[in-house]
Amino acid sequence: MTATLLDGKALAKELQAELAGEVRKFTTQSGVTPTLAAVLVGNNPASEAYVKNKRLACERVGMASQLHRLAESVSEVELLELVAQLNRDPAVHGILVQLPLPKQINGERVLDAVTPLKDVDAFHPENVGLLMQGRPRYLPCTPSGVVQILSRGGIEIPGRHVVILGRSDIVGKPMAMMLVQRGPLADATVTVCHSRTKELSTITKQADILIVAIGQPRFVTAEMVKPGATVIDVGINRVDDKLVGDVDFDGVKEVAGKLTPVPGGVGPLTVTMLMFNTLTAARLQSQG
Ligand code: NDP
Repeated sequence: MTATLLDGKALAKELQAELAGEVRKFTTQSGVTPTLAAVLVGNNPASEAYVKNKRLACERVGMASQLHRLAESVSEVELLELVAQLNRDPAVHGILVQLPLPKQINGERVLDAVTPLKDVDAFHPENVGLLMQGRPRYLPCTPSGVVQILSRGGIEIPGRHVVILGRSDIVGKPMAMMLVQRGPLADATVTVCHSRTKELSTITKQADILIVAIGQPRFVTAEMVKPGATVIDVGINRVDDKLVGDVDFDGVKEVAGKLTPVPGGVGPLTVTMLMFNTLTAARLQSQG
């Protein structure tokens, strides 16, 4: 069997074109241009690239973006002051603090300081709590991108066994939380695995949909996948100057029914969902 590829790049383009129409309509009606402020600390090349992608995506969909650069040596107090200033600025609707942050900074304290209404990454405990209760304000970007890939790829979610590898606050846990809710794009039976899980392949082989977010290059091999399963590779790892996922693409494509590539799978969707959240943020804030 050779898996059908789930092309995230093409889907992101399609969604961004739809979003651009919505942004145009909103801006014409309200006179407000949705604006995303990115905070970039230091010069980490991967972070630079992520922030650039987000800025370009803003341009493509007709939103404005701001970039606030701080030195690697910045103090937590200075960073918190910038966040407070962005929280107060009515021209800014979404705030994105690019991770990772330098060691001298308590990342949790900084993310908690972003006002929940502008927390378009959906990291704030208030937004996480709303998601858990099934009444989300903003959907977490990467998990929400995965749901888009599944639904637009014609993959049924209700009643299916979804196995998630990884339990991070950014991907694994919110992914599980979204899929276990009631509704047509959820209603899944969800199993979450992590580094302490025993007999991992016995569990992954039961998955109708396997979502992998562990940060271990090519970790999931063909033997761990049920024939015909859908495999979503969230991982982004740099190996010998090449980007590879957490899934052994060449082996798994012979077993899986549908599979996302890396790059060009989940990554472009993550950025796109951030844009959707920024429009929602602008709507919520312009309504007062
Ligand atoms: P974290 O490092 O925060 O979490 C990794 C998780 O994987 C942990 O829960 C860990 O378990 C688990 N894990 C690690 N090794 C194993 C193993 N051998 N077997 C089972 N579980 C394991 O990672 P993130 O969630 O932030 O990111 C995961 C990957 O996704 C990375 O490659 C990252 O670059 C990528 N990513 C991609 C995005 C995109 O847009 N495509 C967005 C965000 C991340 P434990 O909790 O026990 O330590």
